[in-house]
Amino acid sequence: MKTLTTHYIDGAFVESHGREVMDIIKPTNREVIGRVTLADEEDTRRAIAAAKRAFSHYGRSTKEERLKHLRRMHEAASAHIGDLTAAMIDEYGGVARFAGIIVESGVNAFKAAEKALQDLPLTRGWGDTTVTLEPVGVAGLITAWNANTLFICLKVASAVAAGCTVVIKPSELSSIQTQVLIEALHKADLPKGLLNVVAGRGNVVGAELVRNPDVAKISFTGSVGVGKSIMRDGAETMKRVTLELGGKSPTVLLDDADLDQAIPSALIMAFMNSGQACAAGTRLLVPKSRLDQVKSAIVKAMAAFPVGDPADLKTAIGPMVSQKQYDQIQSYIRKGIEEGAEVLVGGEGHPTGFEKGYYVKPTVFVNAKNNMTIAREEIFGPVLSVIVYDSEDEAIRIANDSNYGLHGAVLGSDLQRARRVASQIQVGRVVINTMADDDQAPWGGFKFSGVGREYGTYGIQAFLEPKAILATSAQGKF
Ligand code: NAD
Repeated sequence: MKTLTTHYIDGAFVESHGREVMDIIKPTNREVIGRVTLADEEDTRRAIAAAKRAFSHYGRSTKEERLKHLRRMHEAASAHIGDLTAAMIDEYGGVARFAGIIVESGVNAFKAAEKALQDLPLTRGWGDTTVTLEPVGVAGLITAWNANTLFICLKVASAVAAGCTVVIKPSELSSIQTQVLIEALHKADLPKGLLNVVAGRGNVVGAELVRNPDVAKISFTGSVGVGKSIMRDGAETMKRVTLELGGKSPTVLLDDADLDQAIPSALIMAFMNSGQACAAGTRLLVPKSRLDQVKSAIVKAMAAFPVGDPADLKTAIGPMVSQKQYDQIQSYIRKGIEEGAEVLVGGEGHPTGFEKGYYVKPTVFVNAKNNMTIAREEIFGPVLSVIVYDSEDEAIRIANDSNYGLHGAVLGSDLQRARRVASQIQVGRVVINTMADDDQAPWGGFKFSGVGREYGTYGIQAFLEPKAILATSAQGKF
């Protein structure tokens, strides 16, 4: 049993002023594995004040100093990859085969930011004009629970590269994972106050960060509803915002696709991170002429997606994070059936033998229409809707007929044709026949999927303000 009673403020672990205690529940069996004392507004204000003091020095740091801190954080986090992965499996129920990848890409974010900072000129000049990119100030970093280490590392790396100091508010469902990460980063020997962490509720700690005038920027990963409220409430203090929100991503299967390869890829896209992924490809668009073949290929390929203990490397689908998440997914599966979609695989309830935890059945609907609730709303669980199209143009129209625009995939044999389709999908990133990542490529959404981008120079620029100085030594030029 883990008991967490501290926050990380001004370079030290300090006892919580907030008194609310929350149980930490293990998603595989609903046992209480820890207790966390949640922060209140006073803890948050103390963290903001520490970050503000630190910014008065760190805001003037050189590129070399920032690079040094990024290297140190990379070293410190790298030494704890095993602990971070174990915490993700235990507290969140992340499957080992995916949790390892998530943690490694989180740790790698410091290295990637180092490269991006080296590539980014912070000063440009022409004639009598000099333009510098200045850190925006204290940044509030608010994160979701489905890839905690990655989100925190990514946001911290970009903010520190830009010269900002930060206050992190992780999801309250990620308290143990955050503690492991911050204990690791504490060893990086950063300037006091550069990095502060307050674990607490969104409507308490998050809301204080959003309204506090000493916070210049909010970088948020989470739901559309909260993203909207951050934009609205942040306007009062003219907050800069980066919002990484939800998705309902299309996977376009072209009629020349090799189904033996394409269907397993489409299922990985749909079920990665047990379906609790913002980029999950939850709408599979298939040519009507190949529907029967696609159905058989899906049923066959499902054998490679077993539900099980997330610690077992063979498991593809673990439990959902919470009862709320379990209930939400059940209600969407019910809604899909009520609206006339046909269950090809899965359905309502727990998979047999997994009744104790928040396990759901990975579910594939066919005969789904793009106007059904299951095709329009983000389910955030392992539920895939197969939707048919008649022509390439119709596939593109359906792909774009969504409030969301985060991610998309195209699967097909003719690369030129696949690129032509990809270029017409209105999303922040499209992958063609791959799930490969690129830590310098931008990540973020069109439409309701968010505002701004993370990763690479794009992610660092989100924490910078351009400032121009126009000067001449001839004094009579006004
Ligand atoms: P959420 O919006 O409920 O919570 C996200 C964070 O916001 C949490 O830390 C929460 O405590 C905090 N919060 C809640 N109310 C707040 C308020 N009033 N003010 C400030 N902060 C507040 O989302 P979630 O359930 O944690 O995460 C799931 C969502 O995140 C999904 O929609 C998913 O698509 C999205 N997501 C997006 C990306 C991306 O990169 N685009 C990545 C992962 C998850």
